[in-house]
Amino acid sequence: MFFASCWFLTQCPFIIAMKEYAEKFYKSVAWKQCRAAYAKSKGGLCEVCLARGRIVPGEIVHHKIHISPKNINDLNVILDWNNLQLVCRECHAEAHRHDGNENPQRYEVDQFGRVTVRADAPPGSA
Ligand SMILES: [Zn+2]
Ligand SMILES: [Zn+2]
Repeated sequence: MFFASCWFLTQCPFIIAMKEYAEKFYKSVAWKQCRAAYAKSKGGLCEVCLARGRIVPGEIVHHKIHISPKNINDLNVILDWNNLQLVCRECHAEAHRHDGNENPQRYEVDQFGRVTVRADAPPGSA
């Protein structure tokens, strides 16, 4: 089973300069192993849905403390299981809902777990 990574960082306009570095991290063997092992430890289920009594396959390994230029080199943050959460797409969008804007309808998550600005976002919200 394939689990996507939380890709919010690489889509964030404020830290677009970090894109290359973040991609390097997301493609690293250390992260892939960490992500797979963590997802497996959770039985492959969305943790948020499970807490609500729903059995939904988890698709994305999300960082609770979002990765930023400040902590991308800090292995205690980026590879720490305590900072990870296996979530479904819906819950991932929810987790990032308040990131940098007040319009909850602005983001969507693609099949790779990347959070992107919706094409049909209301005018002026970009
Ligand atoms: Zn995330
Ligand atoms: Zn969920």
